[in-house]
Amino acid sequence: MSEALLTLPPYIKVALPVPMRTLFDYKVPKAIALRHELKPGMRVKVPFGKSSRLGVIVALSDTCDWDPEQVKPLTSLQDESPVITAELMALCEWAARYYHHPIGDVIFHALPVLLRKGENAEFRTENWWFTTPQGQSLDLEQLSRAPRQQDFLKAVQQHPNGLSQHAASVLDLAPAAGKSLEEKGLLRREPRSFNKGGEKHAHQTQVPPTLNPEQMRATEHLLDYRHQFNVSLLDGVTGSGKTEVFLRVMERLIEEGKQVLVMVPEIGLTPQTLKRFEIRFNTDIVLMHSNMSDRERLDAWLLAASGHAKIIIGTRSAAFIPAPNLGMIVIDEEHDTSYKQHEGFRYHARDLAIKRAQTLNVPVLLASATPSYESLTNALQKRFAWLKLRQRAGNAHIPEMERVDLRGKSLVHGFSEQALASMKLCLERKEQVLVFLNRRGYAPTLMCHQCGWIAACDHCDVNLTVHKRANKLHCHHCDTQKALLHTCPECQSEELFTVGEGTEQIETQLSTLFKDVPILRIDRDSTQRKSAMAKLTQKIHEHDQAILIGTQMLAKGHHFPNVTLVIIMDADAGLFSSDFRGMERTAQLITQVAGRAGRAKKPGHVLLQTYHPDHAAIESLCNLGYEHFAIDGLAERKSLALPPFYHQVIVRAESGNEQEAMQLLSAMRNDLEPHFAKEVYLVGPYAAIIVRKAGQHRALISIKAANRAPLHQATQMISDWLELSTRQHRIRFAIDVDPLET
Ligand code: ADP
Ligand code: ZN
Ligand code: ZN
Repeated sequence: MSEALLTLPPYIKVALPVPMRTLFDYKVPKAIALRHELKPGMRVKVPFGKSSRLGVIVALSDTCDWDPEQVKPLTSLQDESPVITAELMALCEWAARYYHHPIGDVIFHALPVLLRKGENAEFRTENWWFTTPQGQSLDLEQLSRAPRQQDFLKAVQQHPNGLSQHAASVLDLAPAAGKSLEEKGLLRREPRSFNKGGEKHAHQTQVPPTLNPEQMRATEHLLDYRHQFNVSLLDGVTGSGKTEVFLRVMERLIEEGKQVLVMVPEIGLTPQTLKRFEIRFNTDIVLMHSNMSDRERLDAWLLAASGHAKIIIGTRSAAFIPAPNLGMIVIDEEHDTSYKQHEGFRYHARDLAIKRAQTLNVPVLLASATPSYESLTNALQKRFAWLKLRQRAGNAHIPEMERVDLRGKSLVHGFSEQALASMKLCLERKEQVLVFLNRRGYAPTLMCHQCGWIAACDHCDVNLTVHKRANKLHCHHCDTQKALLHTCPECQSEELFTVGEGTEQIETQLSTLFKDVPILRIDRDSTQRKSAMAKLTQKIHEHDQAILIGTQMLAKGHHFPNVTLVIIMDADAGLFSSDFRGMERTAQLITQVAGRAGRAKKPGHVLLQTYHPDHAAIESLCNLGYEHFAIDGLAERKSLALPPFYHQVIVRAESGNEQEAMQLLSAMRNDLEPHFAKEVYLVGPYAAIIVRKAGQHRALISIKAANRAPLHQATQMISDWLELSTRQHRIRFAIDVDPLET
């Protein structure tokens, strides 16, 4: 023991969840060093200022960066083994450097919420019921006067491997009856940890379809390279059978004892997707997404960390899930912007996953019908294998896209005559129409007819959206909500009217036009409750004719076999955006929504309503498809020195005061620019497009360079400078590496 003490370094470097880009030194008290082997990745309680904090050991050290007299001892050790494995610790350290983000915040982000709060990293236990030998052989007739005990015992007799308390309550067995049986010595209870669950669903493992030649080629490539790091871009039109391809590869890896991480966009995990995995794999699948309770997330995390879970399906934060036998990472809908965290630690889960796979020497598969320009560039430059699927799987065909010229036409509730006529025909054929409008609520603006007053958010520079059904005005930027007004606060006139349309209004209006047709709206408002989406999709499958109205939520991953007509109400939205990514996003959205049409046997048709039918972008998207469109777009990005050809960092500052943020960034530029390498370009500071959001005035500065190294260096200087200068002020700053929004 004393020998161990001699060899143990006397200091630990601890990451704390504080906005400082540094580690903190603590001493290891002898009492702790004698009894435990401290390792990086374990949690410790440490004194911090006047309080105590939970932190994570990043390193053991012989030296400390402070006066040893001042260094305090840690208070207690929280774990017997690391909660951040060496592999994940290295990933966190890389991410903190790459994204110039405080290491403590990165590490805490990588942990499930309950572990951040100090919960033990242990499975919860649950009581299981077993029969005693007497209980097993007892004739149930003998309990005929206690029917509830009879039911209970019968159920447990039928489960020789035990019946969990959870299963008992699902079967509606009375707990009191169980206790009575226990007292009679017929049953016994035993606590078991959650991971031994063993309540397998009855699997009806499905016979997979025969792959078509394109799918076959992709699958063979992926299988050939399945034991080493490489990135493949599975670029397949909607419905081309991409999922089928990666299911095949996963099957093989799981047979080989590997775990597979499948990442899906924030709202892309449909009940349909999960079902498809469950039908296909007779193995443990865990989910990790924001709609789960903290305890459920910790359980999923533990199941992955223990190696039990073979398939982990999760959203962005699952990029950090521990998995000792990780054999592949799949990123479905890789173009989706929800993979990038837009506040705090602004990482991109795709890029992080690629880094992680490289370290682990395992493959990454990126799948999309509309690959991001970044991934397309990597494919064009042969850093990624480019696997193309250009045919729809089975008997389905790619839908035809038709532009509807809105110029000079009279519209009915925003629909052209042609759109309404096509809808009517489609519904008469007992098929379904999907109407896409990327604006939820009833109307984006409420205005006064007498004085022109507009309902605006008190905290942001935006108008409030009218939600008629909820009787509210809602700010979609800061979530402020108010009761819907009926008189003008400026002139007391009662002549308030709405301008523009949202999904809620379209729903109301279509229900008067198509009285007997079921109309289903799918947007963030209609799917707030946990099972709402499942119920809606269930309904869609139940009806033959129906109108579905939705926002971009509808674009993601859904398979509605009876949708044969898609109407894009406003193809121009996003086309003229000030963001250079506007075109890319619009094309992705339109292509994805259009891809919902004709996914089964019936052919699909897409109508794009536009005031710019001759616009080169709309024309090329309709006639030549996404790949052509994107390759033209990339040529333009290159000529304008924009990402992905140039690397970019945006530094954001915000303050309650109108000028402060702008002044801070100006001062920073003045101080530092002379020290930057020549190839670093700065633009700004300039005001954010929506200057004031949630009461904060926002300014930003953009930094660009063709190479990462000088950009990284400049960003490091900026980060140091800002950390020093904002210590005294109430200005917040954020560094956004590879930003996706301006
Ligand atoms: P994607 O992921 O590209 O949108 P999916 O893998 O979901 O495509 O496939 C679309 C539909 O076609 C699914 O219903 C799937 O079961 C079916 N499918 C996929 N591959 C084949 C195939 N080779 N033969 C017949 N049907 C297929
Ligand atoms: Zn008024
Ligand atoms: Zn607001």
